[in-house]
Amino acid sequence: MPVRAWVGLGANLGDARATLRAALRALEALPRSRLAGVSSLWRSAPVDAQGPDFFNAVAALDTTLAPMELLRQLQAIELDHGRERPYRNAPRTLDLDLLLYGDLCQDDPVLTLPHPRAHERAFVLAPLGELAPALHWPGRQETPPELLRTVHDQPIERLDGDWR
Ligand code: AMP
Repeated sequence: MPVRAWVGLGANLGDARATLRAALRALEALPRSRLAGVSSLWRSAPVDAQGPDFFNAVAALDTTLAPMELLRQLQAIELDHGRERPYRNAPRTLDLDLLLYGDLCQDDPVLTLPHPRAHERAFVLAPLGELAPALHWPGRQETPPELLRTVHDQPIERLDGDWR
């Protein structure tokens, strides 16, 4: 049975919108997976990072890939799009995070699930809330819109509902 996984997409260098579109094409091409939904495109100010504003989106993926296989695939897509890591939280052409993998909870530093910071980032919660307003967040009581209200100080703007 496929598992519903949620992937966060972010880019803040070069033609970020084009990079995110290319990343979606790559997600569509993943083995044993089906792209089940894509949020609007959002813009956010960098959190703990430098550089211009980020473009962000969230995608739903139904997959039979194991969590670590999916993470490796996401990292391969990042590399294909020229991500460099000169220093921690450097500006990046493409950042893909595995936000949630079904209800799985694990503490492994190589793959922490749910993603350890996703619940406190408006640029995740706003697009995720569009697609799944009643989503059960493993280990928490609040839905994405409720969590979003706790980070209302993070500036974020919805740009485009039809950008893919
Ligand atoms: P970052 O540079 O912020 O994208 O972090 C990438 C590092 O975080 C990699 O070493 C991953 O193994 C690790 N990591 C841990 N949990 C996750 C997750 N849920 N999604 C993506 N990367 C993760």
